[in-house]
Amino acid sequence: MRRPMVAGNWKMHGTRASVAELIKGLSDLALPSGVEVAVFPPALYINQVVDGVQGKAIAVGAQNSAVQPEQGALTGEIAPSQLAEAGCELVLIGHSERRQIIGESDEVLNRKFAAAQACGLKPVLCVGETLEEREAGKTLEIVGRQLDSVIEAFGVEVFAQAVIAYEPVWAIGTGLTASPQQAQDVHKAIREQLAAKNPEVAANVRLLYGGSVKAANAAELFGMPDIDGGLIGGASLNADEFGAICRAAGN
Ligand code: PEP
Repeated sequence: MRRPMVAGNWKMHGTRASVAELIKGLSDLALPSGVEVAVFPPALYINQVVDGVQGKAIAVGAQNSAVQPEQGALTGEIAPSQLAEAGCELVLIGHSERRQIIGESDEVLNRKFAAAQACGLKPVLCVGETLEEREAGKTLEIVGRQLDSVIEAFGVEVFAQAVIAYEPVWAIGTGLTASPQQAQDVHKAIREQLAAKNPEVAANVRLLYGGSVKAANAAELFGMPDIDGGLIGGASLNADEFGAICRAAGN
């Protein structure tokens, strides 16, 4: 039985004051006990959030981490060992904004994935196609290739300690959401791809959907058999909306 997860990606949003307000809102929420809840603040605010949500069942993750596990000469980066020491449990790997805007390749992302796991962080591997790729009928090919890159490098068993987020690029921050059936079709294909190598890993790994999820559409998406929760961007900046999405995952 997979425990649903709802994760809030705050991206590059926030100030000390707005983060304090968001923490207060999250602390006041009645969160469903059956759902794993996580937030991914900008790195600068990780300490503030770890301290602020203490005693609440909210895990904290990082939006990025370095290609090497330990501290060292790598200007501007943060080692996964440092994130773990700061109280992070999870890290996003391969968000489309990092693949597309920063230009992170599968090879770099594989190194980040392995470094994170070496430090006990759970990677949330993000995969997804652009609108152009969807319209060309290449969705499963693109998503399959992004996933295969990790499987070929490290074996499918690494997904026993990871989460996968399917995030169609055309649905991120656009207000366009994949229909529950469109999302389910991709999630099913991802699970089948993993099952071909290891059915147990495939049955247990959480597959999150991300792309303009809101309280209004969450229940329908999370009701699909292979969707185990969501990775939430914009809507996670509003504690009440985020709380409602978490409750939708618990139903
Ligand atoms: C995201 O950035 O991971 C995301 C899903 O964003 P949004 O919910 O705003 O589309």
